[in-house]
Formats: sequence, C-alpha cells, structure tokens
Amino acid sequence: MKIEIAEHCGFCSGVKNAVDMANAALDAYGRVAVLGDLVHNKVVVDKLKARGLVYVDRLEDVGEMPLLLRAHGTDAELVRKADALGLHLLDGTCPLVKEIHRHAKELENEGRQIIVIGDKDHDEVLGIVSRLRDYCIVSALSDLRACTLKSRTGVVVQSTQRLDGILKILPGILTRSRDCRIINTICEPTRRNQEEILALAKHNDCVLVIGDPHSANSRRLFTVARSLNGNSHMVAGVGDIDPDWFRDCASLGITAGASTPGYLIESIKEYVKNLNGDKTK
Ligand code: SF4
Repeated sequence: MKIEIAEHCGFCSGVKNAVDMANAALDAYGRVAVLGDLVHNKVVVDKLKARGLVYVDRLEDVGEMPLLLRAHGTDAELVRKADALGLHLLDGTCPLVKEIHRHAKELENEGRQIIVIGDKDHDEVLGIVSRLRDYCIVSALSDLRACTLKSRTGVVVQSTQRLDGILKILPGILTRSRDCRIINTICEPTRRNQEEILALAKHNDCVLVIGDPHSANSRRLFTVARSLNGNSHMVAGVGDIDPDWFRDCASLGITAGASTPGYLIESIKEYVKNLNGDKTK
C-alpha cells in the first residue's frame, strides 16, 4: 500500500512556538505553570507535564512559577490580573492569534459591532471577545437570530474555521448589516491543511487524520475527509487503528491536526508500513 503524508500536516507555527517556549522555560526554571490546555494534544501535554509543566486552575495557585500563556490566546482580564499579582508571564500566544485581536480592535475602533465567527466555547474565541465591548459570537447561521445586528458591523473569524462554513453565515450578516467590513482571519497553516485534505481524501483509498479528540481543527479535518471518502478515520495513536481499514486499499493518505507532533505522525506511518510492508511516498 502506498502511503502519502500531507506536506504541511502536524504542528503549526503557533503550537510549535508554544511547545518550544515551554521546553526552554522548563530548562531554565524547572517548573512552569499553565492555565488551561497549552495545546490540544494529550501526548504533547503529558510529555511536558513529566518535565515539570504544572496545570493550575487559578492564578492564586501559580506561586513562584513562571506562567506560560497558551498558543490560542488568554482572556484579557486574566492577563491584567496576572500582571497585577506581579506574576512572571511568558507569552506563548501565537502571533496570528494576536493579529486577530488587533483586527477586531481596529474594527471596533471604527465604531463597528464585532461578529466573531467561531466555536462559542473555544478558548481562542473567548480570548478575542474578552478584548471587545460589543460583539456577537456566531457558530452557525441560526445563531444570528439571537444577535441584534447594528448597521455597522465588522467580522473576524476563529483561525481554524472552515471557509465553507463561513460562506454559509456571511449572507445572513450582509442582509442585515448595511456597512459590514469582513477580515478573513483563518490562518495560513489552517488554509494549507484544509486545501491538502481535499486532494488527499479524493485520491487515496483510505485516510487517517491523526489528532486528539479535543482538537477542534483535527475534528474539522476529519469531517472534511469523511465527507469525501467514507474510509476516513480519526486516530489519536496506533492503539486506535483497525488493520481491517486497509483491506483492499492500494493507497493511504495521512494528515494531522495543528497540535499533533511529528514523532506521532512518524510512528503511525511506521506502524502502518509494518502492517503492510509496502512503499511510502
Ligand atoms: S492554528 Fe493558526 S492561529 Fe492557531 S496557533 Fe496554529 S498558526 Fe496560530
């Protein structure tokens, strides 16, 4: 069976930066605190915890440890409180997430009500709206019913959203808002992953999407793959793989979410190769 790995799959630049920062801080300080998930991958987090990364629920529990802010952004009020407590902050926020914060603020400064298209409970979305005064979060077209839209609006998008989902929501905004400025803030790594999964799912007999069940962008890749190729499966590790999936398959496409480390992708590729003893691309 031929195995094709999506060219840009796995760690995006933001996640890589946060994990590198965590490792450097652990080298320097021994113990480092983080509030919430640093990245959405249990394998990565468990490794860092074994090195001294400490998950805390409250700022009061940080103590003398440096506090690493996660890649997908942190509530603005929490950052203010951490500053006021004199905590040693290490900012692991992805520069592309900060760019969304800047765009949203810029639109707000133009006197616009901000519409954030994204998952309502996702930390990145909560981080964006925590910096705004007047906003609506919209995950689907039906959510617009609960928003009283103003005539001047501005739209930003959670970095890992699917473009086709956004295109379903925008007409609903444009019919109710006379002056709307849209900034497409889907990040470049997400765009590339979403383009690659289309080709991968179409021209392979089977598809594996490697990602943690808590990773929203991995789940989105899987949804796209499954819609195009019924023999698509999401796996967190080799233990989730059923060799029967590859029966009668001449080709396998592998991709991975933005928080999946390269070594996990490599170990799954090797595992499947050993099941088949075949060539890779
Ligand atoms: S998915 Fe995009 S915005 Fe989010 S951390 Fe990765 S590069 Fe940054």
